[in-house]
Amino acid sequence: MHKRQLKNQPEDALTEVTARYAVAVTDEVLETIDPDDPNDPIARQYLPSVEELKTTPQETDDPIGDDVHSPVKGIVHRYPDRVLLKPVHVCSVYCRFCFRREKVGPKEGQGSEALSPQELEAALDYIRTTPQIWEVILTGGDPLVLSPRRLQALMEELNNIPHVKVIRVHTRVPVADPLRVTPELVAALHSEKAVYVVLHCNHARELTEKVRAVTQLFLRAGIPLLSQSTLLKGVNNDAKTLEDLFRALTALRIKPYYLHHPDLAPGTGHFRLSVDEGQELTAALQGHMSGIAQPRYMLDIPGGFGKVPVGSPWIEKKGPHYNVTDYKGGTHRYSSDE
Ligand SMILES: *Cc1c(COP(=O)(O)O)cnc(C)c1O
Ligand code: SF4
Repeated sequence: MHKRQLKNQPEDALTEVTARYAVAVTDEVLETIDPDDPNDPIARQYLPSVEELKTTPQETDDPIGDDVHSPVKGIVHRYPDRVLLKPVHVCSVYCRFCFRREKVGPKEGQGSEALSPQELEAALDYIRTTPQIWEVILTGGDPLVLSPRRLQALMEELNNIPHVKVIRVHTRVPVADPLRVTPELVAALHSEKAVYVVLHCNHARELTEKVRAVTQLFLRAGIPLLSQSTLLKGVNNDAKTLEDLFRALTALRIKPYYLHHPDLAPGTGHFRLSVDEGQELTAALQGHMSGIAQPRYMLDIPGGFGKVPVGSPWIEKKGPHYNVTDYKGGTHRYSSDE
């Protein structure tokens, strides 16, 4: 397999894929791909596939219903106390399973998602005048593709809003484009507020020496790191792969936060698995792996209703008492008042 192309991909079909969806991959990612492995889990995340041309009736352009919760351009306000602020619509790489694939990228239509300086000001005004906003989540696109100067200016604006107490940054840059993470970029995130960085990482092999080194720059600057992963068929859908990923992250002082069930984004059916499979996988980790290494398994309800934990139920109400399953599969009766 060539490092830049998956095996057995007809050229004309691939051209159709790349005409429809953005493609970008960095040298660092390409170096991580094993060219002798036709099922390489890194290649599958980034290199276009003709399978993307298949869409199913359940898939939609706006799989998690961002549009219905957008009071002003660049803001998604779905939950009472926190908003997404999307200052950019581009990423350093384009993941083939991206849940915002119709919105992120350099293509026409996607470009209309970029915020002009006036639009960014209007989005900031919304935050300034909405006192229940306690947390601002910078996402996009990937906010860490901003220059340190622009990022710092944005952080300063947020810093000046008294009711905002927490700033969270969702990013794939440290994993996919580690050379972008300079001391200047990390310094630009400095704030008097609590700042958390959430890394998107789906496989332990993505945590190369270079990636590991840049993650430590955030930690040394006093910025805690969390991770989010997407459960993806052919990438990480077995318990050992997930365990290796979550242990590697935790040993790097990165707390696994969420494991997302894949969203119904167009042309991503080849990555999807059932919630049953996801529950089985996450249940297999319970008890066998340290609690601090366990993320919550989450489903984003299509239509804009928000995320909910969908981990397997360990406890079941049975009349006046409960049946509880232990991590080895034994069942026990639990009651606190009989
Ligand atoms: C995912 C998401 C958040 C963050 O949710 P948490 O459960 O706090 O991580 C906030 N707003 C929107 C619109 C989201 O989609
Ligand atoms: S980095 Fe995130 S937003 Fe960008 S393509 Fe990947 S999943 Fe989508």
